[in-house]
Amino acid sequence: MKNYLIAFFTFFLIVSFKSMAQQPRAQIDPKATEVWEPVVSKVDPGKDIYSPPSDAIILFDGKDMSEWEIGDHTKWIVKDGFVTIQESEKHRKEPTSIATKKAFGDMQLHLEWRSPAEVKGGGQRRGNSGIMLQGKYEVQVLDSYDNRTYSNGQAASVYKQYYPLVNACRKPGEWQVYDIVFTAPKFEENGDLRFPARVTLIHNGVLVQNNVEIQGRVAFIGPAKYTAHDLKQPLHLQDHGDAVSYRNIWVREL
Ligand code: MG
Repeated sequence: MKNYLIAFFTFFLIVSFKSMAQQPRAQIDPKATEVWEPVVSKVDPGKDIYSPPSDAIILFDGKDMSEWEIGDHTKWIVKDGFVTIQESEKHRKEPTSIATKKAFGDMQLHLEWRSPAEVKGGGQRRGNSGIMLQGKYEVQVLDSYDNRTYSNGQAASVYKQYYPLVNACRKPGEWQVYDIVFTAPKFEENGDLRFPARVTLIHNGVLVQNNVEIQGRVAFIGPAKYTAHDLKQPLHLQDHGDAVSYRNIWVREL
């Protein structure tokens, strides 16, 4: 019995020390939350896109960005029915975002995006932008047609939380469609999480995230965590310094 207890406590100590030793790495090293395997398999998406239904709130119809708070920290250029982020080395290092004037809780979101036809850079530095649901939960936008990065950071991932079920990316320079169903997180009055957020994502007509439970606010380093917030929050689009374009953005509140 004594030997058994000694063995048990030795094991317990080793496990405790090991997890303590691992903790600092997760808190300082962005690589600690990268998932590289499995490599997500590719499928060829169909060709069709569609226009907004009658009950949709139009956030961008190709003409102006009047539904968005942009400020002068980031430049979004409207031309020929779409809007393009101005390339910026500064924002490659320090991404920023723009926000809708309206706030949303549970919603269906449709948008179309395009990474630049001229391929520059690699990994996270190629056509990077993002759909920041409630400004906090990122569905990644990236040129992932032929561009290896960590699987949970490629296009259609819930950034650093879930890699997509398949890679349904079109070629750089081609328009791609995201249809998102988002359930906002709910919090208790004392700030505790009552229900986590959930997201379903259809990429170019292909289901790639199936009602996954979001683990918390997007984090580049370390695990994601929730911080309590009001039910409705503005939608953000990320400016990561790459010339990504958007068109046909609409929301249906649920
Ligand atoms: Mg991004």
